[in-house]
Amino acid sequence: MTDETRANEIEQEIFATELDSFVPDKILDAHSHMWTQTTNEDGIPPGFKEFDADVTMDIWRSRLDDLLPGRQQSALFLPLSIRGSIEDAELQNEWVSREAHTDPLSRPAMWISPNMDPDYVRQEVKRLRPSGFKCYHTESPRVPTFESEIPEFLPEEHVRVAHDEGLTITLHMVKERSVSVASNQHWIKYYCEKYPNMKLILAHAARSFNPAFADQGMESLQGLQNLYCDTSAVAESGAFETIIRVLGHDRLLWGSDWAVSHARGKYVSVGYSWVWIEADNVPPPRYSTQSPFVFNGLESLRALKQAARHTQLSDNQIEDIFFGNLAGVLGVEG
Ligand SMILES: [Zn+2]
Repeated sequence: MTDETRANEIEQEIFATELDSFVPDKILDAHSHMWTQTTNEDGIPPGFKEFDADVTMDIWRSRLDDLLPGRQQSALFLPLSIRGSIEDAELQNEWVSREAHTDPLSRPAMWISPNMDPDYVRQEVKRLRPSGFKCYHTESPRVPTFESEIPEFLPEEHVRVAHDEGLTITLHMVKERSVSVASNQHWIKYYCEKYPNMKLILAHAARSFNPAFADQGMESLQGLQNLYCDTSAVAESGAFETIIRVLGHDRLLWGSDWAVSHARGKYVSVGYSWVWIEADNVPPPRYSTQSPFVFNGLESLRALKQAARHTQLSDNQIEDIFFGNLAGVLGVEG
């Protein structure tokens, strides 16, 4: 029996034909998840259940090799803890720290929640030696959480710890129109200016699954020296082009968003929003009996290739996006 979670023939063909000559040999992934399910049976998102219960470095490498065959792979690993308990966060943080530290080029991030006392966060940083923090809106007290202001799930005291320790913070901002929303822009600027030793990474191209958001919001963030965006899961080139044009190619970091990278589907912009399309919610094309959907990670790579072409990036600049920019942020030599 074939394993449906591995790269199929069409996925292998897309990589070989379109991407093999574009993707550099050395990869430092800015946005890859790692988890252990041991006490977390209900906590892993449904889309991840078909994958591995405990993601080790070896498992992660073999999975990413399905997306980027033959590449040297390392990452900034982001824990996932969605049960809302400190115990689970601790378990996930310990797992990710231990696994990531087995690879000299990889780094762990640490899951933080507004429920965590800043002194506890500081102690855990000393104990687990993360290079960054991962926060998420599901920890916000606001209902619904996707209407949260940034400090409701990333309190200032935690940003201060990141500044003191020189850490990254990966921020998946919310509110439907994302970086085009004035209060989101305000908090990003406030944190970046007041805490220059913290490096803020805006996930999903400043969560511009619709390129109009980056187009309308990115210029307000121009000139912040500690601001970056990752490419994770975004599958249209417009937001990448805006980031390269407004912030510079040196602020864009390739991210797989494993295991979202291995879901077969695509984020598509519509109106002032976006939708996730996959075999279960879109009828099959008339000309084919097969589902046309492939790894979302491949769709995202195609979009990045298009953006690189439209903005006329050099090979060296493309290598920066896949390795050098993040290596500089994390102090990784390689
Ligand atoms: Zn993610």
